[in-house]
Formats: sequence, C-alpha cells, structure tokens
Amino acid sequence: MHQPLRLTLDRAALQSNWRWLSQKAGTAAGAAIKADGYGIGARGTMEALAEAGCRDFLVSTWWEAEQLGPILDGLSLSVLHGPGPDDAIGNARPTLNSPEQVARWKAIGGGQPCDVMIDTGMNRLGLRPEEAGVLDGLNIETLLSHLACADEDHPLNAIQLERFRAAVSSIPARRHSLANSAGICLGTDYSFDLVRPGLALYGGIPRREAEGHIRQVAFLEAQVIQRRRILAGETVGYNATFVPDFDRDAVVVNIGYADGYFRGFSNRGGARFGGEILPVLGRVSMDLLIIACDGVQIAEGDWVEIEFDLKYSSMVSDMSQYELLTGLGSRFQRTWR
Ligand SMILES: *Cc1c(COP(=O)(O)O)cnc(C)c1O
Repeated sequence: MHQPLRLTLDRAALQSNWRWLSQKAGTAAGAAIKADGYGIGARGTMEALAEAGCRDFLVSTWWEAEQLGPILDGLSLSVLHGPGPDDAIGNARPTLNSPEQVARWKAIGGGQPCDVMIDTGMNRLGLRPEEAGVLDGLNIETLLSHLACADEDHPLNAIQLERFRAAVSSIPARRHSLANSAGICLGTDYSFDLVRPGLALYGGIPRREAEGHIRQVAFLEAQVIQRRRILAGETVGYNATFVPDFDRDAVVVNIGYADGYFRGFSNRGGARFGGEILPVLGRVSMDLLIIACDGVQIAEGDWVEIEFDLKYSSMVSDMSQYELLTGLGSRFQRTWR
C-alpha cells in the first residue's frame, strides 16, 4: 500500500555517530535503544550498530526487550528499569535500582550477572550510595550511574563524578559506566569502561563539542496533495495565524502533528525542494502542512524533504531533540539506506 510519508534512516550516519562517540570516549560504547530506538527503530539500530562493533544495548523494560526479538550472538542487553513485581525476567540482564529490586533478584536466584544503578544526584532510579550494603553476594557485571546535567556546564557534573568514583572503589563490579551522549562530551574522566550514548547516535547534538561530528540519521519526506494560490490579505490554516501581504503560491503536504511534526513548527519550520527552502505557512494541522512555494516548479505528487536537523528543529519548535525523535509517528514508511 502506498504511504505518502517517508522516513529514511541513514545506516552509515548511525554507524559513523557511534564510532565518533566511542573514539571520543576512548572506551567501549554501548547504545541506548529504548523507546524503539528513540523512534528510529530499535531492531534496525541494533543490527546496524552490531555490525559497527557495538556489543552493549540498553532498553527500559522487559516488554521492550521482548519486542526486540532474538538477541544476536555476542551481544548483551540490559533492562534499565529492573525487575519489578509483575515482570517475567526474560533473556536480558536486569539493572537493579532499589533495595526492593535487589531483594527480588536475590529471591529468584541472584547468581546470574546483573547491573546495578547507583544514584549520584538525580534522585530518579538507583540505590543511594549508603544502601550499597545490600549488594553483597551479587554478581555485578556493570555498575552504573546517570548524569543529570551533562548537557550543561553545571557543578553537579563534577559532584556526580566524585560520588561515582567513590562507589566504584567500594562496590565490586566487572565494569563501570557513567556517561550518556552529553557525558561523553565532558571528557574522558567520565568514560570509565563503558559509555551509553542514545541521542547522539540518532543525530542529536547533546553539547557543542559534538557539533560537526554527528550526522543526521532521520530524513522526513512528505508528498504534495495540492498546489494553490493564496491572495494577499487572505488567511491561511487554523486560527488564521498567517496573512500574506502579497499573492503567494503554496503546496499542501501530507504531514502533521500526528506524525510528530508538532505545532511548534507553525509559521517557523521549513521544507526543501530542488535546492529551495519552502517556509511553513500558518499552523501545522493534524495531518497536513501548508508551505510556500513562490516561483518554484512543484506540483501534486512531488515529495518535499521536511527540515529535521535536530538541533535547529529543537530551537525552532521549542521542543527537546529527544521529544522530536521519539515523537516520530507510526504513519511513516521507514526505510534504511
Ligand atoms: C536513556 C539513557 C541513556 C542515553 O542517554 P542520552 O542522553 O540519550 O545519550 C544512558 N543511560 C541511561 C541510564 C539512560 O536512561
């Protein structure tokens, strides 16, 4: 069935981003593929990154682990949210986040390798350092903590690093891991044995240090449904937020906020066609977008590329790069190239 909306995923760009992150960290790099690979596709991401040499993958829940399908030989999969009261422990390693989860893991055997999350300042998931006594007897593969402010120059970064170093010296584990994408950019002090990028793999720019090194992975294309002439002084779209002061040509294309092209792009986003930039006119609708095409040869059935450079799009739309990626909807025909 013809789908009038395409999401093209650049495998070489994804692999190149992973290599840059791994080199920058100077240590092994895993990949966060939760939320269906940040909206890009967890399975395709895992396969592409495994080919590049990535061995460690992270999802949030056991359900996500199951959705991923069979894990390729030699790869490891961790479940960040750990074993909850209602979880069936599947074919992945749990991350233990609380004394309750530690007790649950011990009760069902506990001899298998597990990961442990220590909270060093975020107060989200993880044991407090003073609770670490309950870990005695566990077979800990990776000791983790997570940075709260790595995308800023914030004093908490150095404080978390110090607290994590203290945990590393007192809790026996085979490997230690602190940095996400932004943490990698903070320097190799934060690298330890494994880094855990997510955002930057998929083309997000977590900090200025990554600019010029991280490539766009997701490319959006939408098809033109109609071309029309809009006269000076008429109104365009819902709530009449755009009124041209000269006669304009426009095309209406098949994408909207239901696809993750959110309302923040209204009167601010843009598309490309044949080297031209076509600005968004008026509000983004649920399934439709109106873009100017003055002086451009473009007609029904043509495809435009929606501008989706993540850093730029985040600025324009006032949404985070994470929200933009994970918001990409289910109506795209997803293709790896
Ligand atoms: C999501 C997540 C990551 C990846 O973070 P990015 O900011 O996307 O690089 C790393 N570690 C943990 C624990 C996470 O939840």
